[in-house]
Amino acid sequence: MGDFDDLYREIILDHYRSPRNRGELESPPAHRVEGFNPLCGDEVVLSLLVEDGKLSDLKIGGSGCSISQSSASLMSSAVKGKSLEEVHQLIHTFKTMMSIHEAHLGKDGENEEPDVIDLDKLGELAALQGVVKFPVRIKCATLSWVALAQGLDEVAAEAS
Ligand code: ZN
Repeated sequence: MGDFDDLYREIILDHYRSPRNRGELESPPAHRVEGFNPLCGDEVVLSLLVEDGKLSDLKIGGSGCSISQSSASLMSSAVKGKSLEEVHQLIHTFKTMMSIHEAHLGKDGENEEPDVIDLDKLGELAALQGVVKFPVRIKCATLSWVALAQGLDEVAAEAS
């Protein structure tokens, strides 16, 4: 167990110290979306470029705690270049992973069985599952994902 925790901590620190896809894309054509977590003071700014049904490029700006920034970096590595369908699936899987703790506490009032999470599919993102043990940090980890989902919705609304 300790080995896994160490490995996960290493991945999170690596992405915090050397964030991937850092920066901003020219907007337009890229779509810009911001997320803010007042509980912790975390901020993310995503630039999304959607082309031919794909998230062909994205860049991450903003600042905040190690969990929020490493989650954004891990997310950018996982979703860049993927089809929108794959990106939406990953958002769903990630949010499910992060909501298991709340579901157990019954906070959201739903009795749904949590989906079974395929950790292999998540790759390095599985490193963030340890965060569910610290409920106050869950919003740090999901901040960039909520912003990504919002941004993709806005892009879809613009296109239709
Ligand atoms: Zn935070």
